[in-house]
Amino acid sequence: MAAETEDGMTQTLQRPSGTQTPAERVQTWLEAFQTALTARDVDAAVELFAATCFWRDLVSFTWNITTAEGQDAVRARLAEVLDRVDPTGFRVADGEAPTGADGVDEAWIEFETSVGRGRGHLRLTDGRAWTLLTTLHELTGHEERSGAHRPRGAEHGANKERRTWLEERDAEFAELGRTRQPYVLVIGGGQGGIALGARLRQLDVPTIVVDRYERPGDQWRSRYKSLCLHDPVWYDHLPYLPFPANWPVFAPKDKIADWLEMYVRVMEIDYWSSTTVDAASYDEAAGTWTVRLTRDGEQLTMHPTELVFATGMSGKARMPHFPGTDRFRGEQQHSSAHPGPEAYRGKRVVVVGSNNSAHDICAALWENGADVTMVQRSSTHIVTSHSLLGTMEGLYSESAAAAGVTTTKADLTFASLPYRIMGEFQKPLYDQIRIDDADFYARLEAAGFQLDFGDDDSGLFLKYLRRGSGYYIDVGASELIADGSVHLVAGQVRELTEDAVVLEDGTELPADLVVYATGYDSMNGWVADLVDQETADRLGKVWGLGSDTTKDPGPWEGEQRNMWKPTAVPHLWMHGGNLHQSRHYSLYLALQLKARYEGIPTPVSEPAAVHHTS
Ligand SMILES: Cc1cc2nc3c(=O)[nH]c(=O)nc-3n(C[C@H](O)[C@H](O)[C@H](O)COP(=O)(O)OP(=O)(O)OC[C@H]3O[C@@H](n4cnc5c(N)ncnc54)[C@H](O)[C@@H]3O)c2cc1C
Repeated sequence: MAAETEDGMTQTLQRPSGTQTPAERVQTWLEAFQTALTARDVDAAVELFAATCFWRDLVSFTWNITTAEGQDAVRARLAEVLDRVDPTGFRVADGEAPTGADGVDEAWIEFETSVGRGRGHLRLTDGRAWTLLTTLHELTGHEERSGAHRPRGAEHGANKERRTWLEERDAEFAELGRTRQPYVLVIGGGQGGIALGARLRQLDVPTIVVDRYERPGDQWRSRYKSLCLHDPVWYDHLPYLPFPANWPVFAPKDKIADWLEMYVRVMEIDYWSSTTVDAASYDEAAGTWTVRLTRDGEQLTMHPTELVFATGMSGKARMPHFPGTDRFRGEQQHSSAHPGPEAYRGKRVVVVGSNNSAHDICAALWENGADVTMVQRSSTHIVTSHSLLGTMEGLYSESAAAAGVTTTKADLTFASLPYRIMGEFQKPLYDQIRIDDADFYARLEAAGFQLDFGDDDSGLFLKYLRRGSGYYIDVGASELIADGSVHLVAGQVRELTEDAVVLEDGTELPADLVVYATGYDSMNGWVADLVDQETADRLGKVWGLGSDTTKDPGPWEGEQRNMWKPTAVPHLWMHGGNLHQSRHYSLYLALQLKARYEGIPTPVSEPAAVHHTS
């Protein structure tokens, strides 16, 4: 078998291209790879990777989320994990035919490890692996009870001790967090905490999700009135329960809020609303956290083993401290506290900032008759909603869904592109958008708007992954700026007087209201607040890729810092991101937590070094 496979591989590499089908090349590669893995022959396995190669692993080989870049990194990974992981069964996924185009063969793959079942994706160039994605899909013996294994619900027969489904749930919820400790406590019940809560529930990990708001969804309800999701419905589904076919393309915020509230109930998440976590500390001796909470005025203490911060990357408002804010006589708000435009008809409003929230708020104020000025402090990336949808068409759209691209497939396709080369795929799309929307951009620039397309012209998604800010998806406000309906000034704020915002160049902007659309701080600030600064520093910066671009300092990390994976603080996890990320990565975080709950050894490979404290 080995000889045959080796021959096969040699043939693949030597035969002129075009004489084998993509399916044959993929099959040859998979057989050779499995043979090398089974023989623990690291050199032979490394030989199967191209000189430029990326192996992204989501938990299946490394108990980490990490990308090995280049043959040396692949070699190091294999040398470390092969015996423990004992990978078997590398094969083309059931019902999926490999495809080939432009010199690249692609295939959906499946495999098993010593503890679970994996799914992945492979791209070959010249018969060698250019990109390999491996993901843990489920733990053997701890599968979710769904499909053929779903719970029965009814208990047929006669039973004098019978308890209904509801009685069971009520008893369980009454007990957990009071007489029985949750294994996982999730702080924050926005869409992130809720998605993770749903997954942990399906995996039977005793979990409580707490949120200080009164109702699930309030984090969306409390945002400015005009907010609709900027991402389309196909990108936004929650795990298990996709939006119905009549759901709007861009969901208004209150609709999302109601969906989350319904979801919590239907998915039977143990969700404690009106509950604030006041402080948390890790008790080394006990091996648990001590978490102090206030629930509806009642003080409580819990002792979870694992603590997840799902407190939101757009939650910790960054308020600038300009001289004179204390003498300004009008109103001042962070964008997250802006109630909406109604009270400001006829008022003069200065909005400091020029990203998404700033644009949305300016447009709604203008629609309601306010005199609005936007202060642009640095360049902003703008892409029209229409053009952005175009970039997502192949994966997240009605036509993609109709062509059989399920949400899971779209998520895995996206995950299969290593961050290092994602820009190369994005840049041509944005180059084209610049041509297609040239008039739009010219009008904006003529109005004095400073545009950018990211430090390397790779556009919106890379900016989001690197810094989570610096862009606006245009749904109409840009025209108001281009035609002067919303006034635009460029510059830095020097101070506030009693009734105006003053810029560095002396420009005075009279104002009744100042809105600071100045963004949000790194999520490790939440850890400083609730645990302590030392722990927050040990954890380090959250988010970003280490791309050495604006607001994302190097060195290169290759993955999002600290998100959904083990951190430098044992038993402390960070979860969140947009709806797509929360949906997709909550699976891998849930599986990591489940494995620990079940006592499955989880040695973490390739832990990320901490380079920045905030
Ligand atoms: C204006 C705006 C528009 C956005 N549009 C989109 C979009 O179109 N598509 C998309 O995918 N994403 C969008 N996002 C980004 C992201 O999806 C949202 O920010 C989303 O709310 C993040 O969910 P989350 O669960 O991570 O955090 P949040 O929704 O912020 O939830 C965090 C929760 O933690 C709670 N909390 C914090 N501290 C404590 C504590 N000590 N005790 C108890 N509870 C606590 C808060 O009450 C809050 O409910 C947008 C964000 C903003 C600000």
